[in-house]
Amino acid sequence: MELIYLDNAATTKMSERVIEEMTKSFKEVYGNPFSTHTLGQKAKAVVENARHIAAKNLQVEAKEIVFTSGGTEGNNLVIKGFLKENKNKGKHIITTKIEHSSVLKTFENLEKQGYEVTFLDVTKDGIVDVKQLKNAVREDTALVSVMFVNNETGVIQPIKEIGEFLEEKGIFFHTDAVQAIGKFKIYPKELKIGALTVSSHKFYGPKGAGFVFIDKKYNVEKEICGGSQERNRRAGTENVNGILGTGVALEEIYEKMDKVLKNEEKIQKYLEEKLKNEIGKIQRVEINGGNLERVKNITNVFIENTDIQMLLVALDMRGICVSGGSACMSGSLENSHVLKAMGMDDEKLKSSFRISIGKDTTIEEIDYFIENLKEII
Ligand SMILES: *Cc1c(COP(=O)(O)O)cnc(C)c1O
Repeated sequence: MELIYLDNAATTKMSERVIEEMTKSFKEVYGNPFSTHTLGQKAKAVVENARHIAAKNLQVEAKEIVFTSGGTEGNNLVIKGFLKENKNKGKHIITTKIEHSSVLKTFENLEKQGYEVTFLDVTKDGIVDVKQLKNAVREDTALVSVMFVNNETGVIQPIKEIGEFLEEKGIFFHTDAVQAIGKFKIYPKELKIGALTVSSHKFYGPKGAGFVFIDKKYNVEKEICGGSQERNRRAGTENVNGILGTGVALEEIYEKMDKVLKNEEKIQKYLEEKLKNEIGKIQRVEINGGNLERVKNITNVFIENTDIQMLLVALDMRGICVSGGSACMSGSLENSHVLKAMGMDDEKLKSSFRISIGKDTTIEEIDYFIENLKEII
């Protein structure tokens, strides 16, 4: 039996179209986009075409797209870069307790440098408390960063409401949209988002590639110094091939979005019913964040009296790849900061894990997974 991959929130397998186009371009497009000769201009055209695809699908301007090495760099660039460029805006910044480590650690770092940070709570279902945000903003609040979709629970955050509120207050709003892009259509301008982070390997593109949208109203100081690439916002010779793969993957996922969503919705419903009905007969089962609107590819489940570390090893031995919560936590025995922020006790933390399906996951794979889960438990 082939391996069954149920860890698509950690990363995805590149699509055939992406592999094909990138393989071709590795051979043919090797010029430096900064060179003025034919090969350089060919590489530049590849980069600009991908930028155009990103801008078109997000309905923003091409010059508002900055290519990066992925989500982590994007989050660092926007948050630190905006603050460096806008020192006069104040020393208070706001985020949530459920962010990805690339945002959380950046805020912790800024706190050490003298910024005052508010880490917002979430409800027991895992949605950020907007009322608390509204009470937290001050005259000297320079920036707010709230993720679009949580990577452990899949819960969709109230981005539109936050965006509108912050626009009225004139406060810069960043969202880590890494788990949201490709799951539904996102138009940053409509949502009053100042900057948004995207990572290609979460939607069947290459690892080590991604981009940020930064509204042209705002300036960010670059994190990486050197040449004047990316309109002086990100130095270094462009990752031409990764950028090409980003464009191809984005175009493809937008083309197929309705179909993929329909399939994932069906599979998620099937999976969760099986968990409740079949596993639920053996042990108490709960879907963490299950009462709220979630993306269709992530299910975080609690199974009472189950040691998740041992369960994951047993599943792996049967050819099923699933992860504890987030890729950044695995290997460590640290509990999930997301589930903790949702108020879960130790017992619940140790018995919860994430199943994340992908565009090609089948009912047969879910059946195999459930059969094995049942036996192991
Ligand atoms: C994966 C992920 C990131 C990090 O993206 P990389 O490209 O792997 O650096 C950031 N935020 C969220 C929500 C993620 O899921």
